[in-house]
Amino acid sequence: MTYSYLSHLHCPKCHTKYDASQIQQLCVCGSPLLVDYDLERLAQEVKREDVAARRPDLWRYHELLPVQSEANVVSLGEGMTPLIPVPTLGADMGIENLYMKDEGIIPTGSFKARGAAVGVSRAKELGVEEFAMPTNGNAGAAWALYAARAGIRSTIVMPVDAPKITRNECAVSGANLVLVDGLISDAGKIVARAVQEFGLFDGSTLKEPYRIEGKKTMGIEIAEQFGWDVPDVILYPTGGGVGLIGIHKALKELQTIGWIPADCKLPRLVAVQSEGCAPIVKAWEEKRKDSEFFENSETIAFGINVPKALGDFLVLEALYETEGCAIAISDEELLREQATTARLEGAFVCPEGAAVFAAARTLRASGWIAEGERVVVLNTGAGIKYPDTVSAEVPVLQPEDSLTR
Ligand SMILES: *Cc1c(COP(=O)(O)O)cnc(C)c1O
Ligand SMILES: [Zn+2]
Repeated sequence: MTYSYLSHLHCPKCHTKYDASQIQQLCVCGSPLLVDYDLERLAQEVKREDVAARRPDLWRYHELLPVQSEANVVSLGEGMTPLIPVPTLGADMGIENLYMKDEGIIPTGSFKARGAAVGVSRAKELGVEEFAMPTNGNAGAAWALYAARAGIRSTIVMPVDAPKITRNECAVSGANLVLVDGLISDAGKIVARAVQEFGLFDGSTLKEPYRIEGKKTMGIEIAEQFGWDVPDVILYPTGGGVGLIGIHKALKELQTIGWIPADCKLPRLVAVQSEGCAPIVKAWEEKRKDSEFFENSETIAFGINVPKALGDFLVLEALYETEGCAIAISDEELLREQATTARLEGAFVCPEGAAVFAAARTLRASGWIAEGERVVVLNTGAGIKYPDTVSAEVPVLQPEDSLTR
């Protein structure tokens, strides 16, 4: 039995092929590399019914993942998060069939666990003993924790403003953690110098090919949860855009192997950004193939504060190919939506997830989302990771005081 149908890596820009049995980072042309599988053989040998009885985590799709030997899997039980109908919130915004894919309940409290599980497992399989990476918080936390489980040393560089809890997650896991008085792009420069100087494995977003494969499992799960069908629209909070690229890749692979109909209309993918950091939105509005560095970016939705993404051209390609769109939300709007989501559905979503709900509301109001369409919103993390986004005015009683109503 074949555990993984991994075949090779290829460059989506210059189409050079790379040997997947060696450690690879970027293509010589500077582009990220994508992972290829022997999908023809997979389609003959594996049926979608085969996965139904497997454990409810992302490794149920191991044939479509790059880890060659089950012995190298580093798992904390990540994946198969619930797809929850949110009808009250849906009615409030006029979307009858609104669903939340809730990544807030995953280990480490954000969907970054998916990329870390597959990325760290594959790094371990290829013999990596130490890596360095820049992060806005959640990715560093996830990679540090999975690295600890794998016995791999990690160096994590994050902005001083990143959510405190992610700092603590890195520290408690024994990572070599450094803060930078700047943005993730500044952290990236520091990591790039360290990689050069000390010959470390570079775990930066898209500078290693395998975290996409972990994040793509969100797309496979959505299809399986819809009974091997797809919704009409999927909205995703876009920073580096890895999740969006991954979901698009997953759906195309599922079409190729026939697990979803080859001729089905793929969901329109929506890249949701913050008004304070919207390079993809700007590029999409200008119908460009790539984005420009977004100066002085700032937003409360820290996970999507990425002024220039290495995979921007792949995100834009996914939007154009699926007839999706890109939209920016203000911090005020997303905070309001975060409160509405908690009040109407009992879901305390992260600011990034709240931005996506706000985007769904805006796109329904403009008619871009039509009546009756099935809409999936990705809540990429737990609201409880960002305790400071809510400011509560609470009365304090003395023990002898009574409640008034
Ligand atoms: C990293 C992150 C994002 C953005 O993910 P990308 O795949 O890099 O675009 C969104 N939400 C949260 C909570 C994140 O941590
Ligand atoms: Zn190339």
